[in-house]
Amino acid sequence: MLAACATPWDPPGLRPHRAELQRHPGQRLFDATPYLLPVRGELIEFFCRWPTDRPLRIHLPQSANRHERRALDAAVVAWESAGLGLRFERVPRPQAEIDVAFLEADQTLRAEGTGFTLADCRLADAGPAAIAGPRLPAQLDRARIRIVRREQDEWSEEDHAYFAGELTGVMLHELAHALGFQGHTQFVDGILARDTKRSTRVGRRILAGEVFREPTLAALYGLPSGVVLSRRGVSIARTEVLDRLLPGRPGPWVRVGDRSGRVFWRAPKGEWGVTLVSVTTARRQPERLVLLPD
Ligand SMILES: [Zn+2]
Repeated sequence: MLAACATPWDPPGLRPHRAELQRHPGQRLFDATPYLLPVRGELIEFFCRWPTDRPLRIHLPQSANRHERRALDAAVVAWESAGLGLRFERVPRPQAEIDVAFLEADQTLRAEGTGFTLADCRLADAGPAAIAGPRLPAQLDRARIRIVRREQDEWSEEDHAYFAGELTGVMLHELAHALGFQGHTQFVDGILARDTKRSTRVGRRILAGEVFREPTLAALYGLPSGVVLSRRGVSIARTEVLDRLLPGRPGPWVRVGDRSGRVFWRAPKGEWGVTLVSVTTARRQPERLVLLPD
């Protein structure tokens, strides 16, 4: 039987950055789902991250009890010390760029498991000239983290200590998404795996005082925000629904999840734009890209 050899991950846009990527042994950026911009007959894959020249304004849930507060704080401090060049500033909710909130039991439908994160990448300009180069004028400008809160009425002190590691792990994981890593790593241990057991192990070690290292995010922050991985041709008819919306507006914002993506604009009462129906299909077979307007 022939072994099906996967094509080595070598996106053309990252070739100039090989030396930088090699500075982060063990990094798994190839497991990331890139941000996707389907525009004017092209599907552009790119990475998006926060600027590092100023602190990121984060809001942690007011309702957190002292055990939860300690667990969440530990995750924030761990990311500050992970070599990404990031600092966080705690702010009231209206000023937050990264808003962290708990989901109570009746709100957990959307969160499959322990939580979810939406991390929005803003394009300053999506005009033909602005996005023609190796780097889009793009950076993250808002993230929302939602964490499922465990029922803890009956908990003892030991229970609180035990589950603090889990919460630290969940927060480390969701913060990774908020910082620009979408998708999950395959077949490896660590904070970027989908399995909560893995992040819990890391969370416990962090609470015990261990140093936190995450080479994949360090590699992402070694690259410029907006770096284009690849451009692939699609029929102009498939991007037309978005192309018609682009001229004359600032933005748009781009978001990508495990299944679908969004290109959208913000409005006082929410957002509007187009949904990229299947991220997997679009990346494997760009000619089958489907955009649905709201
Ligand atoms: Zn996740």
